[in-house]
Amino acid sequence: MKHLIDIKDLSVEEIDELIEVAKDIIDNPERYSERCMGKILATLFFEPSTRTRLSFESAMMRLGGNVLGFSEPNSSSAAKGESVADTVRVVGGYCDIIAMRHPKEGAPIVAQEKSIVPIINAGDGGHHHPTQTLTDLLTIKMEKGRLNNLTIGICGDLKYGRTVHSLITAMCRYDNIKFVLISPEELKIPDYMKKDVLYKNKVSYIETVDIEEHMGELDILYMTRIQKERFSSADDYIRLKDSYILDLEKLENAKKDLCIMHPLPRVNEISVKVDEDSRACYFKQAEYGKFIRMALILKLLNEKKINNEKENVEEKLINKITCKNLRCITSVEQELDQIFILTDKENGIYRCKYCDTKGE
Ligand SMILES: [Zn+2]
Repeated sequence: MKHLIDIKDLSVEEIDELIEVAKDIIDNPERYSERCMGKILATLFFEPSTRTRLSFESAMMRLGGNVLGFSEPNSSSAAKGESVADTVRVVGGYCDIIAMRHPKEGAPIVAQEKSIVPIINAGDGGHHHPTQTLTDLLTIKMEKGRLNNLTIGICGDLKYGRTVHSLITAMCRYDNIKFVLISPEELKIPDYMKKDVLYKNKVSYIETVDIEEHMGELDILYMTRIQKERFSSADDYIRLKDSYILDLEKLENAKKDLCIMHPLPRVNEISVKVDEDSRACYFKQAEYGKFIRMALILKLLNEKKINNEKENVEEKLINKITCKNLRCITSVEQELDQIFILTDKENGIYRCKYCDTKGE
């Protein structure tokens, strides 16, 4: 691996190694304070996300490196219509590693193909956000001491929440994981997640609309935001919203060592009264994000080989079908080939190389 686009690019061993390095950084920060002296991280944020950008910049500075970049697409050449491919080629000459966020799905795949320096995907639309998932894994490891034998409650928008899908996918690779999936009826986890991830990995799960029903069994409670516009009607929203706000009352039957997580920013999913409870881990989680990014930057800067082996064995269609997803990078990037990869041989299903949309 030289780039990190999708959490699935990392093997379990590589994730464990990153977590070990991050733990060592937490214990011995002084050992790492000059590791990236003379190196430059570029943060290319084609879409603003202050929190994520600051986390990357802080990570690089704590390693003794420097940062440059842009955080507003309006102030960059992207506003003038420059392609991702061109931006990355130019910026690659100014830095040693790039963290990039883009509103279009698959944009970092375009970037990695043109880049001479490692690319870290800092979020491509609602598609992938691998450093958030790594942050979640480090938090679980630090707070529970393990990544196996856990009952994990996930509450909120399980239908559209990609953070949640990535976390479930990543945790399914560990032993004896159980999920309690808590959401309103209309925001239940999609069928493909059940079929392709949970069922395939033989991971057991319970679906419930009631946050308190299984509270006493949980080791982790991962809260996420429910956006108002996701509900079918305003009445439903008003009726349901309070039942998914975590407060001290709902925690009454919870374990004493429950770990409460949230990717932040919080809007009102967790009462501020919970913040002082020892089980609230979400602010620590944000700080762990910086440590795992430090470990990742170190890993990518120390790897020289570009791994293109996967590329060669895939069966693909080039410019035979067009991606219908308007959020896909193929909808805007200049002269980008439409590439569909055969992902399911049995059923003959091709998916867009950039955004994973099914080809039709
Ligand atoms: Zn696509």
